[in-house]
Amino acid sequence: MTKIALVTGASSGIGQAAALGLAADGHAVVVADINEAGGRDTVRLLEAQGAQALFVRTDVTREEDCQFLVGRTLERFGRLDAAFNNAGIAGYALLLGDHTLAQWQRVLDVNLTGVFNCMRAEIAAMQDTGGAIVNTASIMGLVASPGGSAYCAAKHGVIGLTKAAALEYARHGIRVNAVCPGYIETPMTVGEETIFPQKKIAAAVDRVALRRMARPEEVAEMVVWLASERASYVTGSSFAVDGGVTASV
Ligand code: NAP
Repeated sequence: MTKIALVTGASSGIGQAAALGLAADGHAVVVADINEAGGRDTVRLLEAQGAQALFVRTDVTREEDCQFLVGRTLERFGRLDAAFNNAGIAGYALLLGDHTLAQWQRVLDVNLTGVFNCMRAEIAAMQDTGGAIVNTASIMGLVASPGGSAYCAAKHGVIGLTKAAALEYARHGIRVNAVCPGYIETPMTVGEETIFPQKKIAAAVDRVALRRMARPEEVAEMVVWLASERASYVTGSSFAVDGGVTASV
């Protein structure tokens, strides 16, 4: 039977790689993103791979968009088996005291409240059938570095939300886990629009045991596994995919 997955932030980077990976693992995929052009590209790639796909424009900061996303998924495919809550934005390279309240709020809204909004809708859809939810945190959900406090707080929050939801919904057969990517080559980090100075990225990669950034597909492997029955005894956990960064002091 074809399983049904939805992926937020699926227009590019880790989300797009996960959408393609989930399709290769037998899912029809609902592509959700604020970026319509990228979302339609992902749908084309999925269809070229022979998968069923649907794009739903979604701003994860808007509760009504997230409810609509899951509603459209159920309308089109009748069920929801797996959800990857991955949409996110980079934080500001600012000390805590230099953040404005609006900057703090924006980073929290997309990276944490966005996951909450999606999970609320997804859990309601999975309550009778069970399912698997994977949230994107970051190594900044496990450790911290100076100059990114809002992003760090949001990603730590994602890990807390993941643990709490896993405990609350285990009895409904819903597993909830998080992935914590390290330095991944995506438009967020190396694209034309990245806000990260490439010198800073190179210095960060120097601290990676494997001495390189990852491809988005290397994170997607973990997501696909967590979403599958192969991870049937795994819930409430967070998995670093970071080339060894967080193993080091
Ligand atoms: P990406 O290529 O920029 O993908 C993020 C996607 O999310 C983009 O398509 C973006 O659209 C979309 N998005 C932004 N705000 C949204 C909103 N409000 N509602 C719906 N979609 C929204 O970046 P990525 O590196 O794959 O990031 C994916 C996730 O991994 C993020 O949660 C990020 O924090 C996390 N992460 C990334 C790294 C890394 O090194 N790349 C490391 C750790 C964690 P636009 O293009 O229009 O902004």
